[in-house]
Amino acid sequence: MKITNVEAIIVKQKEIELIGDGSQDTVVIKVYTDEGIVGVGEVDSSPYVVKSVIEAPASHMVCMGLKYAVIGEDPFDVEKIWHKMYDLAYYHGRRSVVIHAMSGIDMAIWDIMGKATGLPVHKLLGGSFRDSIQAYCSVLMPDNEDEIKRIADTYLPQGYKGIKFGWGALGQSPEKDLELVKAARRAMGDKPELMIDIGMVWKDLKGAINLCNAFKDYGVYWVEEPFKPDYLDSYKRLCESTDMRISAGEEIGTLFEFDELINNCNIDIIQPDISRCGGITIAKKVIDMAYKKGITLIPHAFKTGILMSASLHIIANTPNALWLEYVNQETVLSKTLVKRHFTIDDKGVVTIPTAPGLGIELDEEVLNFYKVEV
Ligand code: MG
Repeated sequence: MKITNVEAIIVKQKEIELIGDGSQDTVVIKVYTDEGIVGVGEVDSSPYVVKSVIEAPASHMVCMGLKYAVIGEDPFDVEKIWHKMYDLAYYHGRRSVVIHAMSGIDMAIWDIMGKATGLPVHKLLGGSFRDSIQAYCSVLMPDNEDEIKRIADTYLPQGYKGIKFGWGALGQSPEKDLELVKAARRAMGDKPELMIDIGMVWKDLKGAINLCNAFKDYGVYWVEEPFKPDYLDSYKRLCESTDMRISAGEEIGTLFEFDELINNCNIDIIQPDISRCGGITIAKKVIDMAYKKGITLIPHAFKTGILMSASLHIIANTPNALWLEYVNQETVLSKTLVKRHFTIDDKGVVTIPTAPGLGIELDEEVLNFYKVEV
């Protein structure tokens, strides 16, 4: 089997709000083969930049769009294809958006391999530890207690055993952050797990230590991304100074960056985003690296059903995966781009897909309606 083309399709809702919700647009990657099998992937990044990174025409021998590293290859040579893309990446950038773009292509290639063999991706990865996974409700942190209460009253009765409030109103001041955590705990009651995603806006290490310790009194389960990903020393010192679980990893890609975070910082939870970290090929290696250090996997996934499916296959294949991030911002793309979008049951559990490949079907009508021609 040979890959014949790679397409980066930008889709976006009508109006983009300047809030921390990454599901307002996306890039759907389609990888075509000479046997008629089409693999589907997704990239969480700037869609317009991703499209350029994938489709840019050649400037010279080693400067061209990623698709030229992929066309003509056998999708079952996925490791070789990953390295071919990375070798071609250095003019465009060896981190960030180029790795994001590679992630979507890699995801689509795993989808092809599954469809060609009739196996779900997790079987290709070595099999599944579980048939389902507990999902937590992932929402932005509102600015007021009434809205926090509305969220708790809406989602906890649906079965969720945990809510993560992130970004949004967090980071204005230590006092306000603590006030919001208290409000969330009041709204949720004692039992459900409460997670707080700082969205990288804390800047004061000692302040972060104090707040993490204060959050413990309100049963916060983990504090996510307190600092920007480059502040590895701050992560290390925070993790050494508090009993609070600290999570990170959604912003980084390649084994090189994960090696620094996993082996130098003593974090508790690793959160690779399969649509950014380098794809399924890299996520699998990251998880092995983290497992050796006793670090739990909870992938970041704030996009559509495509990324959710990829995350579920990785979770299935990981011995110490704990939760699925379930986006409840309820954008049109997060809810409708994939047919029969994954649903939670009344215990807050999502079933691991078992159909070949990623096990999803795009709604082509939705895709075409929200597609942006560039
Ligand atoms: Mg986050």
